[in-house]
Amino acid sequence: MAANDLAADLDAFLAEHDDELIEFRRDLHAHPELANFEYRTTRRVALRLTAAGLRPVIMPKGTGLLVDIGSSNGQDADAERPVVALRADLDALPMADEKDVPYRSTVPNACHACGHDVHTTVLLGTGLFLAGQAAAGLLPGRVRLVFQPAEEAASGALDVLAAGGIASVGRIFALHCDPRLDAGQLGVRSGPITAACDRVQVRVSGPGGHTARPHLTVDLVYALGKIITEVPAALSRRVDPRSSLSLVWGRVSAGTVANAIPDSGIAEGTVRCLDDEAWHSAPDLLKELIDSVASAYGVNAEFSYQRYVPPTVNDQASAAMISAAALGVLGAGSVVHTPQSLGGEDFAWYLESIPGALARLGTRVPGSTAVQDIHQPTFDVDERAIGVGIRVMASAAINGLWDDGTMVAQPLPGVNG
Ligand SMILES: [Zn+2]
Ligand SMILES: [Zn+2]
Repeated sequence: MAANDLAADLDAFLAEHDDELIEFRRDLHAHPELANFEYRTTRRVALRLTAAGLRPVIMPKGTGLLVDIGSSNGQDADAERPVVALRADLDALPMADEKDVPYRSTVPNACHACGHDVHTTVLLGTGLFLAGQAAAGLLPGRVRLVFQPAEEAASGALDVLAAGGIASVGRIFALHCDPRLDAGQLGVRSGPITAACDRVQVRVSGPGGHTARPHLTVDLVYALGKIITEVPAALSRRVDPRSSLSLVWGRVSAGTVANAIPDSGIAEGTVRCLDDEAWHSAPDLLKELIDSVASAYGVNAEFSYQRYVPPTVNDQASAAMISAAALGVLGAGSVVHTPQSLGGEDFAWYLESIPGALARLGTRVPGSTAVQDIHQPTFDVDERAIGVGIRVMASAAINGLWDDGTMVAQPLPGVNG
């Protein structure tokens, strides 16, 4: 299908559904639900999809849902095409909504400050549009909508994977609101776009003793100091600097009095990383470095490493596909290069097993000079971004279904900046 036919179909769909979708987003915004408690949101999305003739499946824990649109061979019975998945996240943040708007949160200490209400509405609208395309025989394969719970808890993507949510999926796309870009713009990046952020804790212990006689015990505070300074330094010499693997301590504690060597101490910090391979190797490498410094000073070191999410690494073909999709339906100048963020995003878990891309959906009012960020209690969007997101997601899904591998290894088309 020609891109201009798709653009015209999207125009017609949005002219009919834009008001309803904005209303839908405002309702979600007024009724935010925290990670793993997105029951109302799940129900509302499921009811609307069902009303459109689709058959959503609620995930086993009762929050989150999946729905397939179209058939995997489209109109061509011989060509089994892989499914293209589109993902949105449903949950809100545990913080107060400080905006003065009619759709302000009605739930104390819960706020859609990360824009997941927008993501959910964009995916719902995309699903309604694609259902219409499928009914008209215009969808060349099967698209799966993944309405994922619990992104902010970094566990929802794993629940989707455990529920078989990306079985037979060949490629996956997602959008995330970005208030640093204007509504109408899409930020795209090939390679890492968000970072891993894990937690590290080191507990050291020794016999303790008088500070007059460190040689008769182990000088625990000195050893802890060595771990704090030498491990991050050694780390930077043991991994490729381009992976940006860094360990930064946030809490260190040992001892109670000036003249006694304590028998225990603790250091806690975060590991951030932009490279998937370095992320996988980080726990073993850190354990080795900590053990070697601790043993040099005779202290015992217990090390615990808490995984959060991997870095999100966009595959080049998928980034090119969503970029081409956006240019086709939004026009020249709509796609911009987006920088890597050191924030975490659990979409990364999908990209550990299938190719895909996360892109940034501009939500700033064009011309506005206000500096906003997500996770702020006043975060809000230019709601025209909803229609923009639907255009991009629908077009990316259709591009993904038509893909025959020829887009692999092409540079991002038309990316400015
Ligand atoms: Zn967030
Ligand atoms: Zn988010």
